[in-house]
Amino acid sequence: MTVAESILELRRQVAALHAELVRNQLVAWTAGNVSARVPGADLLVIKPSGVSYDDITPANMVVTDLDGKLVEGDLAPSSDTAAHAYVYQHMPEVGGVVHTHSTYATAWAARGEPIPCVLTMIADEFGGEIPVGPFALIGDDSIGRGIVDTLRAYRSRAVLMRNHGPFTVGKDAKSAVKSAVLCEDVARTVHIARQLGEPAPIARQHIDSLYDRYQNVYGQEPRA
Ligand SMILES: [Zn+2]
Repeated sequence: MTVAESILELRRQVAALHAELVRNQLVAWTAGNVSARVPGADLLVIKPSGVSYDDITPANMVVTDLDGKLVEGDLAPSSDTAAHAYVYQHMPEVGGVVHTHSTYATAWAARGEPIPCVLTMIADEFGGEIPVGPFALIGDDSIGRGIVDTLRAYRSRAVLMRNHGPFTVGKDAKSAVKSAVLCEDVARTVHIARQLGEPAPIARQHIDSLYDRYQNVYGQEPRA
């Protein structure tokens, strides 16, 4: 597949995956975005800024380089493009990035509290707790740097940026969307569990064996 063919295919995939954010109730208004790395090129495909999810089409997705500069498209790229681009620049194994302000995950981010590994699904998908990244303002590479520095220190594919919300990564955009959906789901369940008591931790060796089995059963590579 040529780079041009990949871009066409990724425009279709990334546009369709934005509907999953809506379907899974992860987004309000236009605040959430999916991107995909273009294989074999220092490019990414991402949502344009400020476009309603109902109006997203393959044709209005935008292509930028890994500095977030517009390469192809009529609209400005998402204001989160710099953070996505920084992740692709520094984590070559990542092929997809998702950012939302999904309610429960963002509530944990508001408290600056990691989601503890108290469910087998958390061990399966995230390999341990879902960590909190630093407080960072939009405008330079501090959000991207905070995401990468935190993800490198954990097995998790999700990071809760402090006072902001979750970013998830995957081997491709679909995998990153799946992690965003599961991150919100476990954030909600653990929040509810907390209402009547302290959720019981899972022993480290059980977390390791759950994570290893799930990654192998589902044919996924670590954090991919
Ligand atoms: Zn945000």
